[in-house]
Amino acid sequence: MKKCNKCNRHLPITNFHKDNFKKDGLRTICKECTIDTVKKYREANRGKHNLSSKNYRDTHKDKVRESNRSYIKRNIIKVKDSQRRRIEKHRKEYDDYHKQYRKRNAEQLAIKARENRQTEKGKEISIKHHTKRKRNLGWSKLWNNPFPDEVKIEWHHINNLLVIPIPKRLHQLIRGKTHRHRCNDLIDKLYNIDLEAILI
Ligand SMILES: [Zn+2]
Ligand SMILES: [Zn+2]
Repeated sequence: MKKCNKCNRHLPITNFHKDNFKKDGLRTICKECTIDTVKKYREANRGKHNLSSKNYRDTHKDKVRESNRSYIKRNIIKVKDSQRRRIEKHRKEYDDYHKQYRKRNAEQLAIKARENRQTEKGKEISIKHHTKRKRNLGWSKLWNNPFPDEVKIEWHHINNLLVIPIPKRLHQLIRGKTHRHRCNDLIDKLYNIDLEAILI
């Protein structure tokens, strides 16, 4: 039993909401009183805030828009910077959340993953991952990196087995489905070699 600080009744602890910040882990006022308080507050403040700010926005629409725009114009770097920071901050929260989630639900997720692998779509994805891994493990360098240290390079797969070093910036320009084909063409020109002959 616990005494409610508002209605002063002695009630079973199931009549109190949980509150981890309290010593005994329970709110000081009973559920009934809590609900009553919230209800009264809502009634007293119904639409007050929303209405007044909406009214202001309606009567000052152009003014507000203009002021927003000119602020952004004057502070474009600051605005972009804060936008970027906001995105980064939330990305971290999001990543953390998912990390925690995966940790907490590792068992169920493993079961689900096993189930998914039984479906058609799941099989397809699993094969894709498998070939990608195989491709990454199986590569061998056709020749060593000829570029100086300050040039960042990536290893381009001319086929599923062989890789060639090309400057990262150049490699990343060639994106999309036909990447390998177009990249091979470029290498033909860059190194002045006939890849076709190697690949046969
Ligand atoms: Zn109460
Ligand atoms: Zn490539």
